Amino acid sequence: QSDAEYLVSLIRSIPGFPKEGIIFRDFMPVLADAKGLDVLMHALEAALPLPADEFDSIAGLESRGFLFGPALAHHLGKGFIAIRKAGKLPPETIGESYDLEYGTASVEIETTAVKPGERVLIVDDLIATGGTAKAGADLIVKAGGTIAGFSFVMALDGLDGLDKLGDVPVSTLISMP
Ligand code: 5GP
Repeated sequence: QSDAEYLVSLIRSIPGFPKEGIIFRDFMPVLADAKGLDVLMHALEAALPLPADEFDSIAGLESRGFLFGPALAHHLGKGFIAIRKAGKLPPETIGESYDLEYGTASVEIETTAVKPGERVLIVDDLIATGGTAKAGADLIVKAGGTIAGFSFVMALDGLDGLDKLGDVPVSTLISMP
């Protein structure tokens, strides 16, 4: 059994959440499994979209990017930058808004979170439309960093989310409808 097959066997699929017609992919059983996080870290490392010495730090998106991002940062010996939902941080912050299916959302970081020219790998559990990852990347750039690449555990098929990210190295371990 490959690492990807093992991870797929752990991911739980919940039809009809958060609404009719959506299949929610639940990653929590990967964390609950004694070997799951270790297998995931090795799989993400093996699939890195660029060599680990070509980026400086890892940024993760609240909330699930906060579970896997720091684990990968620790695994690779990098620092971690937290991209938060709006309204959680004291000033000074920089924000970026993006479109959701209905309405908009915003993400924020502190103005000092990124060093000038820092090369950042963005990590998240899942890319669907790509709006969240794109907003996170735009925020890192606004704060003075550069985007080295993106690493996702899963991409949802047929949503063209990866096309939003531009001409940057991207890796995904698993794709599912
Ligand atoms: P996007 O902005 O690409 O449309 O949506 C991706 C964001 O929504 C990610 O931060 C991801 O955690 C969350 N998300 C969307 N669908 C799912 C899902 O089926 N399962 C999980 N775990 N997260 C999802």
